[in-house]
Amino acid sequence: MQHSENKHLDWHETDWQRLWRAGASVPPALLLAGPAGIGKHAFAQASAARLLCESPTAKGACGACPSCHWLAGNNHPDFRYLRPESEVEAEGEASVGEKKKASRQIRIEQIRELEDFVFVGSHRGGARVIVIEPAEAMNAAAQNALLKILEEPSVSVYFILVTSRINSLLPTILSRCRLMKLPKPGLAEASDWLSQTKDKAALELLALMGGAPLRALAESQSGRAAAFGAVVAALAEPGEDPLSLAARWERQLQLKDDAGLSMESLIDIVQKWVLELVQRKLAGRGRYFTDRSRVVEQLAGRATAVGLIRCYNDLVKMRALASHPLNPKLYLEELAERYLHAIAGGKAVRG
Ligand SMILES: [Zn+2]
Repeated sequence: MQHSENKHLDWHETDWQRLWRAGASVPPALLLAGPAGIGKHAFAQASAARLLCESPTAKGACGACPSCHWLAGNNHPDFRYLRPESEVEAEGEASVGEKKKASRQIRIEQIRELEDFVFVGSHRGGARVIVIEPAEAMNAAAQNALLKILEEPSVSVYFILVTSRINSLLPTILSRCRLMKLPKPGLAEASDWLSQTKDKAALELLALMGGAPLRALAESQSGRAAAFGAVVAALAEPGEDPLSLAARWERQLQLKDDAGLSMESLIDIVQKWVLELVQRKLAGRGRYFTDRSRVVEQLAGRATAVGLIRCYNDLVKMRALASHPLNPKLYLEELAERYLHAIAGGKAVRG
């Protein structure tokens, strides 16, 4: 992630003040929840820095003490950052297209290794902080192991869990944490923030990414903006043959390095597009693809509301299989068929 300066984002200022106001007690386990790509990571890092800092101010960590320097240098002895091994690896060496075998989960062993850290004592005599991100990457066994640690609170040990899928956490974990739901910024604020990065492609992706600016930036910096654009272009001018439409999408999955889309990202766009058609049909306006409102209007005009809604419901079901479709090619062909069927107003096309 880009935010090494340990500062929360401007649109989280109210939440920051609420957590760190003078005299407020800091929870031993904090759960930061909210959509992906809105700055939860920055908030967690800033909070960790604030807890570890030797002379914090109302704004946060001082940035100048030994503790702040260690944290900036990624070698603070009283800080642990738990994440899936696959992410550590992805950051380490630029992968040359080879499949990563590292776990996408936070494993139970990683949680167990915390026990020494938590129960042995601090190096500096101050706080110890553990950030777990994304918390939903812990499976049930790992969460239960964490629960055991949380049930025996230690003085000056602080857990910060970060999640964009709160429903994947065990109720027992939730009950041990203070929940803080971080909001996403307004569209204008998100656009302003992205404008400052001078990344035009990211700005164009903002609406498509549900208004989450850091997600738009990450997708753009990974080189995926073009692939997103191609998927949308295929939706706007799909032709009539499901096989060739599916083939156009398939190419966007196969791009080299990080430029290719995941199946989840692809179906996510198709879902948003169909939702846009539904909203255009029923409410006369859209929200994600305002720069393509003409073609959205045309396609929505040909389709029936019932057909579009049925298609959307089918996509929701298909979305559940997107992370491991049995046969990706067939999956895309089915997707293409359902979409073409819906925009043909229920006529033609088999399915
Ligand atoms: Zn400091």
